[in-house]
Amino acid sequence: MRRKVGLFGGTFDPIHLGHVKIAETIHRQLQLDGIIFLPSGIPPHKTGLQLSDNLIRQKMVEAAIATYPFFSCSDFDLNRKTPSYTIETLRHFYHSALGRTADFFFIMGQDSLENLASWRYAAKLSQYAKLIVYPRSDDRFECPSFLGPEDLITVNAEILQVSSTQIRQMVRAGQDISQFVPEEVGKIIATFSLYR
Ligand code: ATP
Repeated sequence: MRRKVGLFGGTFDPIHLGHVKIAETIHRQLQLDGIIFLPSGIPPHKTGLQLSDNLIRQKMVEAAIATYPFFSCSDFDLNRKTPSYTIETLRHFYHSALGRTADFFFIMGQDSLENLASWRYAAKLSQYAKLIVYPRSDDRFECPSFLGPEDLITVNAEILQVSSTQIRQMVRAGQDISQFVPEEVGKIIATFSLYR
């Protein structure tokens, strides 16, 4: 039987408890065998932003998922010298050794789906993976016209009121972020004085 593997891309600056909850919920609901987190190197949609160091973002992801045996972190996107276009990431995994025995499920939040039409070769993404969308607001969202209904799976789950932007702002304002990030991630943020 082919394995079912989730791919979860993001800037993860920082990874937060929302990301972890999304992965847990999707892992359970879709009965995935595992989920690979993919921190992006140069995110095409956030080129104007100053991101935290690649290795620190990777460290935070690894710390957040350390106790989850079915979650792992890949540095594939981090090590690319060009923007992390999802189509290239999906092609890479599809043609990798893992791709011979696994089908892929690309995980994204509702806000990402709403921007999907602007992604490079958006209509081709579904050749390599099914797209899994986690809701981010109560607004209804539609399947983009370039995807077939079978290409998109909508997760039925609670809205998670958390974002990396909010956490960065809270740190800058000296507020307690412990309810929004795993404890080990909070320690890394403090150790490296991130977002100050
Ligand atoms: P930022 O606030 O810096 O834009 P973010 O919280 O959206 O960051 P990302 O690392 O950009 O975090 O997100 C990676 C993926 O996780 C994206 O597809 C995003 O839509 C999704 N995501 C992040 N937080 C949530 C959330 N609270 N609910 C649903 N999806 C989310």
